[in-house]
Amino acid sequence: MQKVHPDKAFRDHATAMNTKVSGAITALSLNRDVYNALSTLDVSRSDPATTYYVQRELLEFHLAGVDKDDATRARLRKLNDQLTDEQSKFDRNISDSRKSVTLTDRSELGGLPEDYLDRHKSSSDGTIVITTDDPDVYPALTFAKSDALRRRLYHALLTRAYPENLDVLKGMMQTRYEIARLLAYESWADYNAADKMIDKGEKSGAFIQQVDDATRSVTARESAMLLAEKRRTNPQAQEIGDYELRYLTELVRRSKYDFDSQSVRRYFPYPRVQQGVFDTAAKMFNISFKQESDAPGWDPTVETWDVVGDNKVIGRFYFDMHPREGKFSSAEMVTVLDGIRGKQLPEAALICNFPIPTATDPGLLQYEDVVTFFHEFGHLLHSILGGQQQWAGVSGISNLMEADFIEAPSQMLEEWMHSPQVLALFARDYKTGKPIDAALVSRMNRASAFGRAHWVARQNAYTAISYDIYRSKPQGVDLDAVCTGDMRRHGHLVPSQDNHDWASFDHLGPYSSAYYTYLWDKVIAEDFFQQFDQTNLLGGETPLRYRRTVLAPGGSMSANDLVRNFLGRPQNMNAFQHWMGEEFSSEAEKPKYPAH
Ligand SMILES: [Zn+2]
Repeated sequence: MQKVHPDKAFRDHATAMNTKVSGAITALSLNRDVYNALSTLDVSRSDPATTYYVQRELLEFHLAGVDKDDATRARLRKLNDQLTDEQSKFDRNISDSRKSVTLTDRSELGGLPEDYLDRHKSSSDGTIVITTDDPDVYPALTFAKSDALRRRLYHALLTRAYPENLDVLKGMMQTRYEIARLLAYESWADYNAADKMIDKGEKSGAFIQQVDDATRSVTARESAMLLAEKRRTNPQAQEIGDYELRYLTELVRRSKYDFDSQSVRRYFPYPRVQQGVFDTAAKMFNISFKQESDAPGWDPTVETWDVVGDNKVIGRFYFDMHPREGKFSSAEMVTVLDGIRGKQLPEAALICNFPIPTATDPGLLQYEDVVTFFHEFGHLLHSILGGQQQWAGVSGISNLMEADFIEAPSQMLEEWMHSPQVLALFARDYKTGKPIDAALVSRMNRASAFGRAHWVARQNAYTAISYDIYRSKPQGVDLDAVCTGDMRRHGHLVPSQDNHDWASFDHLGPYSSAYYTYLWDKVIAEDFFQQFDQTNLLGGETPLRYRRTVLAPGGSMSANDLVRNFLGRPQNMNAFQHWMGEEFSSEAEKPKYPAH
């Protein structure tokens, strides 16, 4: 409610309640009587899920400091309350800090699609305002020919919540460091790794280096193409700035791969994409979706849906899919109820900011929006299909699930939208109803493969930022220097000046030092994906085996085991490396999938 309720007073109230609830959770995590009772439980004859649950819970109790003396516990309680407060402030500052750029010259919008221009009419004084909301800023960064406009917008985007978040983040770093030290860890990064797949903080340092090594040669090849593209209009150009990556990537996709991402938008009107995402999930996992109009959400635009499997309702979700003033401005899946087998149905909500369809505007999505939709829906399915455990504590994507596994199922589902078989389910021209043709899909896939290494490099730079901010004593950390340094070292582009990325890097709150999760899970996701029949992603036994071995257990066993159970071994980098360099592999010369 803090992030989505239409009424500001309600959002404020939710923030206050959130603090209160977190306080109660902290108090429980430090309650020695509960800990003593749990640690004397005899689970030797219980089923593996129960044993695992108790083990995990005891580890969390230990990490909360329940076995410390009274004074330390009191201090930890105070620090945790403080941290909750700081995290809330950090988030709120970001969502309240919508920035905008005002234009006086309409020609600066050259290159942007017509519906975008329609949505950005000049006001009476002749000015046009572009905000930092997703549907405003990203099309402009991708398509606007005006270098100056893109530069200004990028600057606006990367200076959000600055300077408001300076003291907040510094405070958050200090609080976390103190917590880690009280629990005998060297740093927050070490402490934070203890209940994750990765297990040790220093392993994220090693992982960042591995990814960097795997990426460098591919970004070099991509950069050469980007620079060649830039030199067509700027023959003196020597380097590529981070603010122009989207724009230049788009130009290369057009010129080298004969693909204009605008050309596929006509196949992605919002209502069709939603239906397509539903149909994909239904076919893969043998489920269906039924809209429940008698259960309203928090805003009239929110839809409520039931998930049906084996002729019974197995969960419910809420779709809050379009932007609204004061609403969280990115995309996220939130668990509403964990679910308890036979007692409570799991519930989840999807919060997105896709263009809204109106009487005159079909709400056409960008290619990347569709990827995001699949991604977030992957989280939602994980939450619902895993939400049938005996214990709420390990149901769905519970707090006890290793947090560095959570992005694997969602990132894997992104791959489905490259499949002609899947696209045939929903991608039809919004005017003529004609299905998207196979040649266009093949060009789209080849073009979308271009730029992956730079995407990985950027993610890796953010991973390094998240690690470097939390890997040592906070006093010596210069946030701007860390950001610029890591962007330069790992991002493989020239970072723009006078930005303060960290101020609106929302993951520094909840993910803190664990931003590596995204790439770590991308490695797992690609490894998973290679197990599916690449010519028939919706059929065969693999989707149901995947549902059974990876999704259905929820958090009731270690993610390292889930991975081993599905792959027959631990994950490795092979599939990921193949995915990253696909645009340069000989296979990219021919369509990856046969036409259906
Ligand atoms: Zn995600």
